[in-house]
Amino acid sequence: MSSPPTSPPAAKRQRIDPSLEAISSPSTSTQQVNGYSNGSSSALAVSSAPELPVASTSNVPPNESDDDEGEEQEIKHQEEDDGTHRDMYLDTISRQNLDFDFERLCSKSLSNINVYACLVCGKYFQGRGRGSWAYRHAVGENHRVWLNLSTEKFYVLPEGYLVSDPSLNDIIHVLNPRYTTKDLVKLSKGNQLSYTLGNQPYRPGYIGINNIKKNDYLNVIIQLLLHIPPIRNFFLDPNTPELKEERKPTELVMRLAVLAKRLWNPKLFKSQISPHEFLHEVNKRSNGKFKTTEQGDPVEFLSWLINTLHRDLGGNKKKNSSIIYKSFQGQVQIQTQQVIIHKEYSRPVFDIGRDIQTISSPFLFLALDLPATPLFTDVNEKKIIPQVPLSTILAKFDGKTTQEFGPTLKRHHLTMLPPYLILHIKRFTKNNFVSERNPTIVNFPLRGVDVSDYVDPKPSDPMHTQYDLLSNVTLDTTKASTETSGLGPGITASKKKKNGENEENSLTWKIHIRAGKNQDTDNSAKIKNENDGEEEEEGEKWIELQDLRVEKVTPEIVFLGETVIQVWERRDLSRM
Ligand SMILES: [Zn+2]
Repeated sequence: MSSPPTSPPAAKRQRIDPSLEAISSPSTSTQQVNGYSNGSSSALAVSSAPELPVASTSNVPPNESDDDEGEEQEIKHQEEDDGTHRDMYLDTISRQNLDFDFERLCSKSLSNINVYACLVCGKYFQGRGRGSWAYRHAVGENHRVWLNLSTEKFYVLPEGYLVSDPSLNDIIHVLNPRYTTKDLVKLSKGNQLSYTLGNQPYRPGYIGINNIKKNDYLNVIIQLLLHIPPIRNFFLDPNTPELKEERKPTELVMRLAVLAKRLWNPKLFKSQISPHEFLHEVNKRSNGKFKTTEQGDPVEFLSWLINTLHRDLGGNKKKNSSIIYKSFQGQVQIQTQQVIIHKEYSRPVFDIGRDIQTISSPFLFLALDLPATPLFTDVNEKKIIPQVPLSTILAKFDGKTTQEFGPTLKRHHLTMLPPYLILHIKRFTKNNFVSERNPTIVNFPLRGVDVSDYVDPKPSDPMHTQYDLLSNVTLDTTKASTETSGLGPGITASKKKKNGENEENSLTWKIHIRAGKNQDTDNSAKIKNENDGEEEEEGEKWIELQDLRVEKVTPEIVFLGETVIQVWERRDLSRM
């Protein structure tokens, strides 16, 4: 195998072109990025964050402050030096060492002001003036090419001159991916293939997310949310008004936008991202409720995240007042009556002669109850895993089925359906201070779930009551106990199993996401779009994602797990 060219074609110094038009990533190394998940720069960035600067006198630079003075001079120097040669130091850049997923802090001073990335080893240092941390690193290690992380300008240190070269654009695309409206249309097709620095193919958007410690329950929700097309486009679109600087988006919103842009980046150096910065903010905003160090409940996180985003994005009680309400809000009518036990019925029933209280309530997702687990065992004394069709548990919303809540009866009916219907299948119940898990398998079709029986008034367009599955979050029980009673998510008390292993450790979460359109409903699927770059075979695919693991699976796999959250896309949208 021949090594890739080390010299990019364009050799003239010029202003960096900020447009997104493709410049193929020049690879300066033949090193494969396989197994880079714990790459040195990521590991370093994580472990160095909490460390205090070393208090050694020889290690404290005389000037570690902002040092932008003299920049004009330097630019002038560059303009005068209008040579046609390419800066020789550019060949010392090691792209495989670059990782911009971590907090932009100087690895020495921990300051976030005026931070530069060393493009040779990937570490971050402050300043570039004489005596600054970056300057000292440049002199000490002979690492010469630097990128200012906020201005996106490149410098050669210690000389301090500005350098611009089109061959550096790929680095900017990794640091701050930008999208055009045309890019967004392409992403929806889900069949575009990109290549990493190590020439490994990947499908933008369907890439691994690092698990820092126990954040798999958070990762599945990041994947779930950022694969809902209007939400994804909201965060990627450069024209989204709520994300403009003058609207002062919250830190949570900004960090999620950065994460979205990286997840869908078709020009990544390696096909994985770290959610570190976003999850740090989640922990802060939730007052420590959602940690990366303890297993938690993805449903609680989803609920917290969409409600917080709704408010952060200026949403109020009105319909469609945020992208969250536009995508997920429906309406349910709940009828309530006090219970009177009729002798002729074994169970309490609604009595039309008595007062029925009717309220209409908005929802962002629907909670579905599983039937109680039967206690049968088969002839071999093994527990039988019960199964239930989705339509049976959805029947809660048919307006007739009653549910008892203490002394009251309730029945539910949907009055408005959202474009994206989120279902929460309630598997965990707390009884006698322990959380029990119901292992019932829910049977569902991947396409065409018709909810017309549960909605009144019925939408005029029949496509508006049909939904196709978009994603499915399941509990990975391959390592967990198959006992019905298991420790639930979010329960921090540790329950020891017989073999002494903490059962909480063995519960993990994964998600299945549909990629591409299904062939039955999309006649144009066979027609290849020209100028679209390389494409995989057309049609619907299912991708299983669990932290860094990304696997194409057969649709049958999607049915097997203990599903907890599902996102259903209205038929008219899934066919688009
Ligand atoms: Zn370096």
